[in-house]
Amino acid sequence: MVSCPECENNLDIEEDEVDEGEIVSCPECGTDFEVITVSPIELKPVEEEEYDEEEQEEEETEDGDFS
Ligand SMILES: [Zn+2]
Repeated sequence: MVSCPECENNLDIEEDEVDEGEIVSCPECGTDFEVITVSPIELKPVEEEEYDEEEQEEEETEDGDFS
C-alpha cells in the first residue's frame, strides 16, 4: 500500500499500475506527486517554483500599470 506523503491518505496505487516519472494526484489533499521509483513506490511532490515566478511577474506588471 502507498500512503500520501502529505496527508497519509491511502492512495491505492499498485506497483504495476504506474511508471517511473508518472504523475499521480492525491484525491484527499490534491497534491500532485511524481513517481520516482516503482519497486518500492517512492513519490516526490511536484515542484511548482515556475508558477511562483509567474506570480511575481504579474505583481510587477500591476505596479507598473498604476499610472
Ligand atoms: Zn494527500
